[in-house]
Amino acid sequence: MKSESSSPASTRLGMLLLVSGPSGSGKTTLCRRAADAGLASYATSCTTRAPRPGEVHGTDYFFLSTDEFKQKISDDDLLEYAEVHGNFYGTLKSEVFTHIEAGTDVVMDIDVQGAEQIRNCDDPIIQQALVELFVMPGTEAELRARLTGRGTDSDEIIETRMKNSLEEMEHWDKYTYLLLSSDRETDYQKFQAILSAEALSVSRLLD
Ligand code: 5GP
Repeated sequence: MKSESSSPASTRLGMLLLVSGPSGSGKTTLCRRAADAGLASYATSCTTRAPRPGEVHGTDYFFLSTDEFKQKISDDDLLEYAEVHGNFYGTLKSEVFTHIEAGTDVVMDIDVQGAEQIRNCDDPIIQQALVELFVMPGTEAELRARLTGRGTDSDEIIETRMKNSLEEMEHWDKYTYLLLSSDRETDYQKFQAILSAEALSVSRLLD
């Protein structure tokens, strides 16, 4: 047992787990499920994309007009933003800092361009909090089946997403963790294992 002067700190910074992977890799489901189970807070993004049937403003995304999105950029409200599949997507600072500073873990769904911006940002809190995961779909056929299976996107949108997905998959080696997707339960067990192990990391302990 350690002496009192060198005992471990009792408070910690929350982790910021970035989750990337092609559309249809199942990454949003993993993040949502962990948040619903109370394991982490889900950082709801802003987007200029139109809501899909059933999507709720403030829960799935903050759905903004292009002007509203540009206002968020000029107000410096975004930690990062990128154009993905022809629409803007961005992370609100307010969805991240309050939580991680209070010791709550945050999970976020983000494309490879946004992840690159956060990876290169010089904010020391973000750098200390950062963990990155890439979710790789099993096969190309599976990816197509998942994109088609949503039943909400047109053939044209599916083709754009398929093409972008294949490009996105080339970036997996920049991430801390790689999850090769199999079935949803196995994927979730692995996802939980990453959250559990990273929650024990000494690197985020505070004095
Ligand atoms: P979808 O339209 O299918 O909800 O999302 C499309 C893509 O946008 C996904 O690859 C997702 O990871 C990405 N995305 C979602 N939120 C954000 C965000 O806040 N920032 C960035 N850069 N990408 C995001």
